Amino acid sequence: MSSATKSKRITALERKLGIDEMSKASLIHREWIVIFRSRLEGCGVWSSGGGCVLLPINHPTPRKAFALMLQKQDHRIRDLVIDQFSFCLQQDPFMLDANYPLLEYYLFTAWKTVDQEEPIPPLALPAQLADWILSIKPEEYIHYRPTDWCWQCGYQYPKGSAGPDLKRFLLTRYSKEQVWAMQEPFRGKECYICGGEIKDELYRRSGYSQATWEGSPAARKCEAKKADWKAEIEATQLPEFLTSLGYYDLGGSLEDKVKELFYARRTQRPGVREEYQPSVEDLAKYY
Ligand SMILES: [Zn+2]
Repeated sequence: MSSATKSKRITALERKLGIDEMSKASLIHREWIVIFRSRLEGCGVWSSGGGCVLLPINHPTPRKAFALMLQKQDHRIRDLVIDQFSFCLQQDPFMLDANYPLLEYYLFTAWKTVDQEEPIPPLALPAQLADWILSIKPEEYIHYRPTDWCWQCGYQYPKGSAGPDLKRFLLTRYSKEQVWAMQEPFRGKECYICGGEIKDELYRRSGYSQATWEGSPAARKCEAKKADWKAEIEATQLPEFLTSLGYYDLGGSLEDKVKELFYARRTQRPGVREEYQPSVEDLAKYY
């Protein structure tokens, strides 16, 4: 068969299958949807480090806090956190492709556990809380941070931190009241650890509200315990999978590296013939 005939047949077959310039445009469009559906709020997971999964544990103390939480965690949740962490390290280090609600919340809690102003007790994540996080659809994840707090023991509970775009997206599926409830899902409920009431994070901030925190049993407990919590974290041995990671320079040109990596991976997707893969320039128009 001559190459001209072959080429004609391929062209005919492609036309039949609908693989042509339109398909290429549609592929670019699909890529665009992936980018923005997974990052509707228009920013990385963390505000620095390019959203690198290592950012919260890129220092010896929070890394030990992460190890300590995992040590205390039940097998089921621990294995899920480690699996998601390993997946991100290998496949999605800047957490660009999707949201990982359990991993992100876990890392954020470990990070905040070493906060001297607002320490969180270095405990395992309560199983009910972990299951609640696992039930969130990744595309509806509004980046919960441990901020609302238990009046009695000071343990912190999720509060959403997403920007207005994601909230607008959620309003296409849920009522205003439901979206509001998603923002503060634990406020007024009972603490899984001690049964105390979960309060608004603002009640530990500046002005008259701060008096609520300062007068609470939680403030007294956290103040009395924080030196012990710190000592327990410092005494923790890192497991092998965390010692072998090293520490990274997450400053400088990291944002550019994120973009480079993102483009490189998008243009080398297996299963899409090279001539139909969107070019970096095509993608850049949408990014
Ligand atoms: Zn409590």
